[in-house]
Parts: sequence; C-alpha cells; structure tokens
Amino acid sequence: MTRGKPRILIAGAGRFGRQHLKEWKLLAAEGRAELAAIVVASAESRRRVEREWSVPAYTGFTAAMLEEVDGVDLVTPSATHYSLAKQCLSCTNLLVEKPLAMNAIQARELEADARRNSRILMVNHLFRCDPVVLRLKELLGSSPERPQLIQGSFLQEAPAADENLVASFEMLHYFDVIEHLFGEPPAAVLSEQRGGCSQVSLRYPGGMNAVLYLGWHEGEKVRSLVFEYAGRKVEANFLDRTIFVRERDSMERILVDRSVGPLRAALQTFLGAIQGEPVQYPNGELGARIVEIAERALPGPRRVKPRVAVIGGGIFGAACALEFAPHADVTLFERHPDFMMEASFQNQWRFHSGFHYPRSPQTVQEIQSTREDFCSEFGEAVIDDVVSYYCTSNQAVEITRERYLAICTQNKLSFVIEDTPPRYVDSSRVNLCLRTDESVFDFYKLREMAKARLREHPNVVTLLNTEVAHGEIDHYGRKILTSRGPDSSRRDEFEYLVNTTYANSNIIARWFNFPVRRLRFDFCEMAVLEIPMPNVSLTVLDGPFCSLVSTGHNRTFILTHIHESVLKSRITADGLPPAWGEIQSNRSNLIQSCARYFPIVKDARFVESRYGVRTVEAFTEDYDGRPTVVTDHGLGCWSVLGGKIGTCVSNAREIVDRVFPGADRELGRCRGMAVTRQ
Ligand SMILES: Cc1cc2nc3c(=O)[nH]c(=O)nc-3n(C[C@H](O)[C@H](O)[C@H](O)COP(=O)(O)OP(=O)(O)OC[C@H]3O[C@@H](n4cnc5c(N)ncnc54)[C@H](O)[C@@H]3O)c2cc1C
Repeated sequence: MTRGKPRILIAGAGRFGRQHLKEWKLLAAEGRAELAAIVVASAESRRRVEREWSVPAYTGFTAAMLEEVDGVDLVTPSATHYSLAKQCLSCTNLLVEKPLAMNAIQARELEADARRNSRILMVNHLFRCDPVVLRLKELLGSSPERPQLIQGSFLQEAPAADENLVASFEMLHYFDVIEHLFGEPPAAVLSEQRGGCSQVSLRYPGGMNAVLYLGWHEGEKVRSLVFEYAGRKVEANFLDRTIFVRERDSMERILVDRSVGPLRAALQTFLGAIQGEPVQYPNGELGARIVEIAERALPGPRRVKPRVAVIGGGIFGAACALEFAPHADVTLFERHPDFMMEASFQNQWRFHSGFHYPRSPQTVQEIQSTREDFCSEFGEAVIDDVVSYYCTSNQAVEITRERYLAICTQNKLSFVIEDTPPRYVDSSRVNLCLRTDESVFDFYKLREMAKARLREHPNVVTLLNTEVAHGEIDHYGRKILTSRGPDSSRRDEFEYLVNTTYANSNIIARWFNFPVRRLRFDFCEMAVLEIPMPNVSLTVLDGPFCSLVSTGHNRTFILTHIHESVLKSRITADGLPPAWGEIQSNRSNLIQSCARYFPIVKDARFVESRYGVRTVEAFTEDYDGRPTVVTDHGLGCWSVLGGKIGTCVSNAREIVDRVFPGADRELGRCRGMAVTRQ
C-alpha cells in the first residue's frame, strides 16, 4: 500500500499515451496522484514530451526508477507489453493496456509474476468503464435471465483497395464486456474469416450465444451490441451512446450520460487498487483469459476438408448438400426412407414467376433473381408446356383488375391479356385473365435429379431413415449430433451445421439455444384431380384465391383454396410445430368452392387428398410474403426456412459463399463414386 499520493510513471506517448498523460495531469492537479515521469521510445519523443507537457521524460526504464513509483501505466504498442510488463512487475504495480500480451503463454506468465511478487496487475479493458456498459450492467447484469443471443459489431471502415486487412488482436473488447455483464467466460469459441472481418461465435455456459463481427468492412465505423431475450431486445450503440429497449408493445430510448469518461474511471480504479481500496478491477487472471479467447477467435487453419451436417432431405437440404460438397465432407440426414417426402412433395409444384405474390415485392424479387441458379442445376425438371392463367375476381377487394395489372407491369412480369378460357373458368366471375409464362416442376424428375447428383458426389454421405435426435456444441465449437438410424444410433461431429428441416426448424434451433422464429403452421389439404383437359394452370386471386395447377402428367391437377385448404392454423408460443390432433378432410367444400370459379372440376375424378404443413413466418398475412429466410446463427450453424422451391440453389450458394469466400463453384461439377447408406 502507498503512503501519500501515489507516484505514477507512464510508459508510452503515442495517441493513447497522450490521452493517459492528460488524465494523469488532471488527477495530479486534483491532488490525487503524482506524475513521476514518462518513458518514451526515442530521444526526439522525449524532447517533445518534455517541451509540451513539462514532465520528466526518459527513453527506458531503470530498476531504480521503477522502485521509486507506486505504479506504471503501460500504454505502449501491444507487442511490447510482455517484455515491458515483466520488467515493471518485478518492482511495482502495473496498469497495462489490453491485450495483456500477444499470446496466452506470455499472458499467463505475467499473471503469475504479479501473483508471485504481490503486485497489482490491472488490464485496461476500457470498454467495461464505458458509461454505456455501466448502464447495460444495471439493465441486464442484475437479472438472472440471460439473453439467448448477443450480436455485436466492432467494425472499422476499411481503407479503399486494401484486401489484406484482418481483424486485429486488439479488437477483443466485447469478450471482456460480455463476461463483465454476465459473469462467465465462454465455453466454446469459433471463428470464421469473412474478408477483412472475423465472425466470432461464442457459446456461454447455460446456452447463451454471442456472434460478433470484428474487423473491417466497407461501411462506416460501427460499435454496437444487441441483446436478444425472448420478448425483449436491448440495442446499445457506443458511438451515439444510445440504448434502445424494445419490448413487445413498447420502446424506450436511453441516452447515456458521459460526464465521467471511461479512461478517468479506469485510472481512478487503478489508484484505488494500489491504495488498497476494495475495488473490483480486471486483473491478470481475467486479462490472460481474454487473451486466450482472442487466440481462439483468431482465424485458425481450417481442416483440409471441414465436415458439414445438413439436417433435412427436402429440396433445400439437397441443394445445400450439393453446394457444400465440393468444399467439404457432407452428411445429409433425412428421417424418411426417401428424399423430398414432406413439403417438397406436398405442394403445388409451381415454378413461380411472381404472379402469385402481388402484395409482396420482396418475394417477387427473390423469385426472379434466383431462377437462373435453379435452372442451371435443375432446369431439366421444369415443364414449360403448361399454360398458366392468372385471373382477378370481379368481387376483388384488394387485388382489383387495375391494381393487379399495374403490379405485374411494375414487376416486369411476362404476360398477355387474353379472354378467359371459357370451358375452365367461369368468365362471369372474373374481369381480367392473364396468360403468363409461369410453369411447373416435374416433381419426380426433380427428385431423381437431386438424388442422382447426391449419389454421384464422392463427398456426400446420405443417411436415410435417420432422424437427428439431438445436437450440442462442444468446447471446440464442434457440432455433435446424435441420430437414430434404422439399426442403431450414431454420434457424429461437424464443423458446420445447416438446418433445412422446414417445419421442424425451431426444434433444431432450440437444441443450441438459438432464438426461435415466430412461425405459423398451416395444416393444408390439396385435392389431386384427374380432369380431361390440357396442361393448364388456373388461379383466381384475392377473396376466393383458388388454384387448379397442372402437374404436367396424365391430366392430373392439384386443387387448392385459400380458406378451404387450410384445415388448421397455429402460431405456437414456443415456435414448435403443434400436435394437430384429429384431422378431418374438407375435400367436398374445397371442390365445391373452387367449382364456382372452375366449373371444369365438376367433371373431375378425385384421385387423392395430399396433406402437408405449410410453415411461414408468423404475422405476414398483410402482405403474404414467402421469402426464403436464411439465418446465420454463428458457431458455424445456419438455418434455412424454405420459401419458394426455385430459390433453393441461390440460397444454398449464398451460405457456401459466406462459409468459403471465393469458393470455386466449378468444382461442384465433379463426379465420382456413390456413398449412400440407408
Ligand atoms: C400447401 C403448400 C403449397 C406450396 N406450393 C408451392 C409451390 O407451388 N411452389 C413452390 O415453389 N413452393 C410451394 N410451397 C412451398 C414449398 O413447398 C416449401 O418452401 C419447400 O418445399 C420447403 O422445402 P424444404 O426442403 O425446406 O422442406 P421439406 O421438404 O419439408 O424438407 C424438410 C425435411 O427435413 C426432414 N427432417 C425434419 N426433422 C428432421 C430430423 N430431426 N432429422 C432428419 N430429418 C428431419 C423432414 O423429414 C423433411 O424431409 C408450398 C408449400 C405448401 C405447404
């Protein structure tokens, strides 16, 4: 413990060093400390500091100098911390800028030195003294509830044309802030390099996840942390010092006062510590732990071939497996005996052009921008000789004739206005009929193509009849999946996980404590009819919204109605698919309601009803959008909630491009031996 005013020596007079110097001078003027001297790197710097600041300056430490002070404030480049801190700790207390050292071994050694010599070793993790963090601590730290997900960005604006930037070791502030707020270090750390930016995923005991973006990007500087709870979101911006607290029905904006700057607070804490006051401070143990996290967060060498698990053998899972295959060893899990037996089969097989979604420009845009990718892989499964008509009802409320025409034109959809085909549509009930370029998939061909490609790819193992029952993430960030096959259970580990289970999407998300999406589940009935008419598809929009879509085969058509086809609809509180209980067919109402618009269905032979669960984002009725939602959970985990089938290839490519930036897609064309297990 010191007697009188603590004597402080500063090391370093760079940009940060001068800020420290200024604060120490203020503290000295207030009589709280004595500024003994400053140590700088060169004679020139020494002369300048002495001239500008009137402080004795030296170009190196001596033991005598160190023994005469009560503490050193080390503000030198990170690479010098280890050697200078070692000298200091043999004689006196030390406040050192973060990181404590440039690797964990050195950091642990310094921590041990401090303990052995009974020195105060404080690491200046300045962000924890930032008033925004202090306020967050009040708001979040006191509650036992933990956020499900923390998202953070610590991004610098990249200088133009510099492609060699990487996140620096110094960008480790949030590792400390999160531990400071919630009291525990992460159990697993995983890092991905995304250009000049590292995506660092951290998993904390109890299942809290954090995904941080650290490094450089093309936009402006960003310093933000977002804490997502079930039903509450807290967003902190360190640049404008605002915190938004959003609850279901309310939003509060807090502007944080910065009257005591973080540096002043940190220096006062150090003074308190060396004077024996009972202050909490980031000590050597914590500093070393943060360096260990940073070491694991720095992008390490990838496995030569990372292992990717794709859960769900629908069309989206198949597309993901195929796109990953050139770069990874892929295992595709499907619980049924064959691929594409759920939503990928139980749908209308429409290869959408955009006519179906007049209220959702986003869906139309996605459909249009992804067609080419789909056709490049599965174009042969598209049947072009189906003629598709879209009509507006003369009872339409929202999508009237004029509005529909305007939207189709605006969206640059390809159509001609024609007379209503009289045998198929009751022309007295519609006031506009567009002959469009929309087509349908040949479902069986699509499935055969996907299966053949999967079979042929040497890097894909497909496990049919295999349900993934559970997943967890180990200390190294690997995804450990337990699955039940036809004969036995298995346990596999993967670097990456893609969840393409559609209706079950949230079940998988919950294993890893990822936030669940609010979903609406519609239990739908579609009537399959045989009708003696050519391959046409008919849709009447708005109120009646009914469709009769050709399958392109054997005069078979799929009939749906916006209301009569939906047997049950649920938005579950936990996001999980509901137990449906008993389901009664609504086939006769469905056929009768549609017959008002499509009299031809009266001549139809009923073949079967198909049932399926449509899974869409909840509360989208207003615009009826169906975008495919890709979620990057961090920790090498992704979810894909399929929207329209034609978007599957582009979305799979988007994920692969993010995981393997600059991947060579042509590699995907390779062919080889089959590796399919059943
Ligand atoms: C009534 C209806 C009509 C539609 N009409 C069209 C249309 O005309 N055109 C269009 O483009 N889109 C349409 N859609 C949407 C389209 O069907 C879906 O977006 C698409 O099929 C989703 O594909 P997927 O691969 O994500 O899901 P799925 O095909 O459902 O695949 C998910 C797979 O995951 C498997 N799985 C789940 N949990 C596990 C587990 N734990 N372990 C192993 N496997 C698991 C399931 O068995 C399933 O095979 C329609 C949807 C519905 C419901």
